[in-house]
Amino acid sequence: MTIPAHLLPDDGRFGAGPSLVRDSQLEAVLRLNPSVVGTSHRQPPVRDLVARVRRMTAELFDAPAGYEVVLGNGGSTLFWDAATFQLIDDRAQFAHAGEFGAKFAAAGAAAPWLSEPDMVTSEPGTGVGPRAGAGIDTYAWVQNETSTGVVNPVRRVAGADAGALMLVDATSAAGGVAIDLAQTDAYYFAPQKSFASDGGLWLALLSPAALERIERLSSRWVPQSLSLAAAVKNSRLEQTLNTPAIVTLALLAEQLDWMFAGGGLPFAVERSAASAATLYGWAESSTFARPWVTSTANRSPVVGTIDFDEGIDAKSLAATLRANGIVDTEPYRKLGRNQLRIGMYPAVAPADVEALTACIDYVVERL
Ligand SMILES: *Cc1c(COP(=O)(O)O)cnc(C)c1O
Repeated sequence: MTIPAHLLPDDGRFGAGPSLVRDSQLEAVLRLNPSVVGTSHRQPPVRDLVARVRRMTAELFDAPAGYEVVLGNGGSTLFWDAATFQLIDDRAQFAHAGEFGAKFAAAGAAAPWLSEPDMVTSEPGTGVGPRAGAGIDTYAWVQNETSTGVVNPVRRVAGADAGALMLVDATSAAGGVAIDLAQTDAYYFAPQKSFASDGGLWLALLSPAALERIERLSSRWVPQSLSLAAAVKNSRLEQTLNTPAIVTLALLAEQLDWMFAGGGLPFAVERSAASAATLYGWAESSTFARPWVTSTANRSPVVGTIDFDEGIDAKSLAATLRANGIVDTEPYRKLGRNQLRIGMYPAVAPADVEALTACIDYVVERL
């Protein structure tokens, strides 16, 4: 089946990550060749790039005094493991209702040097957040659960023990969802989602309390590659412990520039919100599709999950879209739902989400 060209989006990438990279980001990379790309990460050209990324990240999120942007290799998954060594003191609580939240929870539960964590769970497709408990020194939850398309509030846990840290997985939320950074101690992400870059890096905005905890726990044995203390030390020198992907940093820097040119975080958040209003509005008025997340407050503005009537095979719908250049609308593999999942990160044009809905209507009528 061929979708008429006039219905197609300008850019057919709707993945939840890696996600659409804008042409001008790749053009910026070319401009950094040969002055930055392909040069030593221990010398000023690359260190200046790291410095720019750190400075712009702090500014984008309006980081309160004393917060620091720390980065390293290995993506958010590595940050989870690192956090089990040098952020969780003894007992953590993990609030999760989806694949990504569950993965950090599993890492925390498996660490033999930590006490058994407290788990707060909820059905996939619903929201979940932390709740106060005695003896808990670290609360961990997910701002945007990418596997289900659920956004959760980010607020310090009222009634938590003094000094308890708030660790927020913002891998897919950061840059596309509003945040009050003062509510967090570690707001961490990877650049292949709302920042339209590539994978392999992690970045974290760390509060003074988190930095102190890292310092205190640095006496605990840790593989060097997982040491947050080493990451802090290197970040302060505008470096990473080991060689970073320079192109990934360059793509990220360009996306940060683009966000600032538009008006900063509110601009980026508004782009995703406009896309989400289109997608969910279409699904609500559709006779064959509906938003999976029933609570409107929990519907993600950056990753939308849309359920289809039994009579429509979402798998073949996604395959037909793919054959027409509209890619990565498949749902999270382990959910096993008759669903499409649509990435609506800031780089995605709201008009393209509108075009996508027209393409889905076209295909469904003819399937
Ligand atoms: C993508 C994602 C991750 C994993 O990120 P990696 O960089 O691949 O390790 C973790 N948490 C959330 C919420 C994500 O969306």
